[in-house]
Amino acid sequence: MTQSAAPTLADLRKAGKAGLARTLARLEAAEGAADVLSLLDEAFGDGRGHVIGITGPPGVGKSTLVSALITTFRDADQTVAVIAVDPSSKRRGGALLGDRTRLTVDPEDPGIFVRSMAAREELGGLAALTTPAVVLMRALFDRVIVETVGVGQSETAIGDVADTVVFAVQPASGDSLQFMKAGIVEIPHIAVVTKGDMQGHADRAARELESALQLATDDAMAQVPIQIVSAPERRGIDELVATIDHHRSTLGTPQALRDARAKQAGLWLGHRIHDVFGRRGLERARQHGILDAAPLRPFRAYAEVSAALEANDKSTQSGTLGSTVASPA
Ligand code: GDP
Repeated sequence: MTQSAAPTLADLRKAGKAGLARTLARLEAAEGAADVLSLLDEAFGDGRGHVIGITGPPGVGKSTLVSALITTFRDADQTVAVIAVDPSSKRRGGALLGDRTRLTVDPEDPGIFVRSMAAREELGGLAALTTPAVVLMRALFDRVIVETVGVGQSETAIGDVADTVVFAVQPASGDSLQFMKAGIVEIPHIAVVTKGDMQGHADRAARELESALQLATDDAMAQVPIQIVSAPERRGIDELVATIDHHRSTLGTPQALRDARAKQAGLWLGHRIHDVFGRRGLERARQHGILDAAPLRPFRAYAEVSAALEANDKSTQSGTLGSTVASPA
């Protein structure tokens, strides 16, 4: 990648994993930098990869499942990027360096990119940088897997970044079913019972899960397919990939997918403005219709909104957003 001109998506594709790592580091260091923003908006318009969210309580076997999925995708000659959102770290400044050791992947494989991200200030939620990172990755890789701890999270949800959401529970863990019944867990597209080698237990967990889904008030819950997998033995993984691909095929036309992602981008923009500028900032941005048009190029819109809100805060405590806010779309 050249340092002089703003990098394009074509530059990034040529630069490979090292280029992506540099770009993510740049994003963490200077979220609003103009060169990164134009790259992000370009990538946003070229999101060919399929984004799969894997969520569930700690210890259910998400990392083990992700490793098995990576192997399956690589065997099919598909490239894979993974973002593991680490909820335990609140270190400011974004990502933890290095990959999660629990994921067993070949570091030499140019078709696999793994990244951990700290959840930062959003308690239990997704990292602020997850959406921009996903946008870059889905322009570069066939599959993007976002792994999160998904019980009890509220504001920022995996459905805001993933096309297909997989919720994992393990046998003999009534807790997660309770969460599901109580509606604390957002509705997944696919439910997975891990540790299928714990035979009777896994079957029982699947039955419990099925009745929990049937009892749920939301009709969509009753439609969620349930699969039992044993990731270390790679049992049930091909079937799970088939179910994931089936869900992808139900997402509709490329235009429908673009619309869904534009909606996600609008949600991200709203969350970001809320996190940084508070409810008043968000209200002011809304009043000026900025959020409606912004999802077409959400990252530049964010920079414009934040510049306007900052300028406005400096000039007056009570004023409204001034003419500094250009049309975002
Ligand atoms: P995560 O916290 O959800 O990412 O869970 P991990 O993937 O780290 O797995 C938690 C523990 O469960 C580890 O000790 C794994 O070895 C174990 N584990 C994962 N999958 C299976 C499985 O299919 N069968 C059995 N028996 N253990 C598993």
